[in-house]
Amino acid sequence: MPILRFDNVSKRYPGGHEALTDVSFAVEPGEMLFVTGHSGAGKSTLLRLIHLSERPSRGAVLVEERNLAKVRGRRVPLHRRKVGVVFQDHRLLMDRSVFENVALPLVIAGTPRAEIGKRVRVVLEKVGLADRERARPIELSSGEQQRVGIARAVVSQPLLLVADEPTGNLDPQLAAEIMQLFASLPAQGTSVLVASHDLHLVKRMRRRVLVLDHGRLVDDIAPEDLAA
Ligand code: ADP
Ligand code: ADP
Repeated sequence: MPILRFDNVSKRYPGGHEALTDVSFAVEPGEMLFVTGHSGAGKSTLLRLIHLSERPSRGAVLVEERNLAKVRGRRVPLHRRKVGVVFQDHRLLMDRSVFENVALPLVIAGTPRAEIGKRVRVVLEKVGLADRERARPIELSSGEQQRVGIARAVVSQPLLLVADEPTGNLDPQLAAEIMQLFASLPAQGTSVLVASHDLHLVKRMRRRVLVLDHGRLVDDIAPEDLAA
């Protein structure tokens, strides 16, 4: 069963032109893939439809074959525990510690305190920030801040992680490290979809690539065909 499926999805913003037109694809569990394309191609819109900050105008988005059109109201926060999001600008709380930032989704979900401590430390270990849990994000480098954002997104053990230009503000070496971190997630049960306009970085990762052009899915490239 695909973990994610777009079935002839179109999206038109109120008063705008079509940001996505007739987009169809499926993602299998344990995949890591990219969506690329020029600025304005529709990458962010595609991700917003997955974490329900927008709704399609036509067609269906399905997570584990469940149509997200049926996920409304109180079910939206539950959905967001299954689908983690990483933003380019981290969106961290600057007046809270690293630990508190990562713990936040679990606190909101009502997870018992002892469990929160355990899980936060496991993910901080995973992103290499175990010794920084008391720091404020402001004291960290931008690469470290991005890793806090990733830790917060994976602490709920999502089925799927979507990331919108997660390396946009990082130098090439840090960007490559963050990508390696994403690449390690499928083995732990989280599929990963990364939007990036950085073709150089995307090609080096040798994963499946969806290419958007003016809202249309114009290519779906298998890793073995990437060299060309
Ligand atoms: P990308 O992430 O590839 O840069 P976006 O999904 O942000 O592309 O944008 C796709 C198109 O939709 C662009 O023409 C953009 O201006 C438009 N768009 C994006 N968000 C909105 C919005 N909230 N309201 C109106 N138009 C939008
Ligand atoms: P991104 O591509 O990372 O979403 P943008 O700068 O395109 O970044 O968009 C920033 C915000 O502005 C988003 O919340 C988006 O919904 C909104 N936005 C983008 N394009 C438009 C547009 N043409 N009209 C209205 N809102 C827009």
